[in-house]
Amino acid sequence: MDQIQHPEPPEKGVSTTVPAPLRAIQERVYACIQCGTCTGSCPNAFAMDYTPRAMWRLVLMGEKETLFNSRTFLLCSACYYCTLRCPRGLPLTETMEELKQIAARENHPVHKKSVLFYRNFLESVRRHGRVREMEFMTLYFLSLKNPFTPLQFTPLGLRLMGKGKVGIQVPSKGQRRLEALFRKAEELEEQE
Ligand code: SF4
Ligand code: SF4
Repeated sequence: MDQIQHPEPPEKGVSTTVPAPLRAIQERVYACIQCGTCTGSCPNAFAMDYTPRAMWRLVLMGEKETLFNSRTFLLCSACYYCTLRCPRGLPLTETMEELKQIAARENHPVHKKSVLFYRNFLESVRRHGRVREMEFMTLYFLSLKNPFTPLQFTPLGLRLMGKGKVGIQVPSKGQRRLEALFRKAEELEEQE
């Protein structure tokens, strides 16, 4: 497998004119000393275009465009390893999560597919209390509005069906037993 080259952010100082949605994020990582422990700890760093350390540098410089064109924060699987090991005790996992939320709120075209993927995953959980794989993928493909995308996944789908890993599922509304939980979470998010 080809090794991903991790570009370095340009060497500039900490920016004091940070775009609005990044201001709170910058405050959270202001004490970063660029030691690289987060990168060394991250199990997903090999697949990221910028390493976590380089990403915090981009945040501090207010490089919003470069940051949101990167897929680094989307590849964070919230394992909390970097947060546990950061010598400055910074809330790195939560900050990765906030970057995902900003990207979703601002509808960044680069992340459109990932955002739709997350939304449809959650919609399936909301309906049934757990993800129903085939229904989830059907909803995801419909939301992409591209009839050719499902074709790319047909061989994989057939293989998984052949091994009994997934079965045919017609999307249904489900019993929505987690509806109250989802509504409460939405309410709390709106208050933030
Ligand atoms: S481990 Fe903490 S201090 Fe070190 S580079 Fe990462 S965020 Fe900065
Ligand atoms: S929480 Fe995210 S960024 Fe931190 S080590 Fe885990 S995957 Fe990497």
